[in-house]
Amino acid sequence: MTAQFDVAVIGLGAMGSAALAFLSARGVRAIGIDAHFPAHALSSSHGDSRLIRLGYFEDPSYVPLLQRAYENWRMLEARLRTDVLTTTGVLQIGAPDSKIVAGTRASCALHSLAYEELDRQAMAARFPAFSLDEGEIALLDPQGGYIRPEIAVMGYLTTAAADGAVLHLGEKITSIEPDDAGVTITSPLGSYRAGKVIVSTGSWIAELVPQLKQHAVPIRQVVAWYQPRNGFATQPQRMPVFLRDEGAEGSYFGFPAIGADGVKVGRHAHFREPIDPNQPNPPVNETDTALLDGFVAKRLPAVSGLRVNATTCRYTMLPSEDFLLDFMPGSSRVVVASPCSGHGFKFTSVVGEILADLAADGGTDLPINAFSFESMERFVARSVG
Ligand SMILES: Cc1cc2nc3c(=O)[nH]c(=O)nc-3n(C[C@H](O)[C@H](O)[C@H](O)COP(=O)(O)OP(=O)(O)OC[C@H]3O[C@@H](n4cnc5c(N)ncnc54)[C@H](O)[C@@H]3O)c2cc1C
Repeated sequence: MTAQFDVAVIGLGAMGSAALAFLSARGVRAIGIDAHFPAHALSSSHGDSRLIRLGYFEDPSYVPLLQRAYENWRMLEARLRTDVLTTTGVLQIGAPDSKIVAGTRASCALHSLAYEELDRQAMAARFPAFSLDEGEIALLDPQGGYIRPEIAVMGYLTTAAADGAVLHLGEKITSIEPDDAGVTITSPLGSYRAGKVIVSTGSWIAELVPQLKQHAVPIRQVVAWYQPRNGFATQPQRMPVFLRDEGAEGSYFGFPAIGADGVKVGRHAHFREPIDPNQPNPPVNETDTALLDGFVAKRLPAVSGLRVNATTCRYTMLPSEDFLLDFMPGSSRVVVASPCSGHGFKFTSVVGEILADLAADGGTDLPINAFSFESMERFVARSVG
């Protein structure tokens, strides 16, 4: 028998869980389906912490979305009566003309956002966990901090279920067939009819959205945790979350000691190695740990070389490293949510609202024009042209 829903959300990681919660809160009859148990180890939405910041160096046009995301994170916290987002400030460290430092400054200037500038001496006095080269600076975004991904995903699913959503876990959707009256989605366990479908399947997105086969590339990401050498200097009050621009070597990110494993460190996009989403994440190897151990030894004097944990996770990159939030070309019944190129978690709370708007209303007032299939194709055409 086929069940009838207003909206079906396929994939309940960060983006899908939030979309399901926003839909259910609006009284939409919704079903959420995930192939596994949400925030599982093969998803992109696990691992203790995700960075959030407001002065977005990548592009100032993200700032209005971030402002809304902050409001929505606080709404989730109020509903759950627990902390999801902790403010520690975020330090963006590098040469004054580096992409991260210059981009953060430009974004703050355009949107009149507060930030503090610290030179090497000021950093040593105030935040002794870090070591800066002569001439490097740090911009402190006072609104920055970290989000707990597992609490956020499970929190959104809990509120969705409380508001009437149906949850099917351990069921993989294998086809989506839109027609004039609705969409049929099918798994080995059954088929369902819905008026609209949201596809938020992370690193598996191209399996259901063929237009993304060439464009959405899952890559391997590695993070490691280290015990502090100086426990005082690595507490969140003395060690804000950070991003560090290392020029041609890329950028690194890290978190203070917020759990038993200590300080967490990773390099954005790591070695950009493509992976098969249907295989287990390739294990951490000596090249991975040598890279991260080397960074810790050089840049974080308050952190010891005692690495107690390391794990692989996955980013899914689009060509421009932006987002994609749009209807599937040729169907106004299927909404596609890209996994956001390794920087999407902080936006989950606003992406959920946007996806719910698109599915329930056919459009949104939030600024997403840059995240269309057309923009992605224009970018690809410019890059190869
Ligand atoms: C190590 C790491 C660090 C990161 N750091 C940050 C950060 O500091 N700040 C930040 O903003 N972002 C960060 N990101 C990026 C952010 O976490 C991701 O953008 C986000 O988690 C992607 O969520 P998602 O819901 O799109 O995908 P996922 O979490 O992967 O969820 C997709 C879900 O879809 C399910 N699924 C797949 N196929 C099917 C199917 N056919 N049928 C049913 N279900 C299906 C899967 O089981 C999975 O649960 C980081 C990512 C990683 C990996």
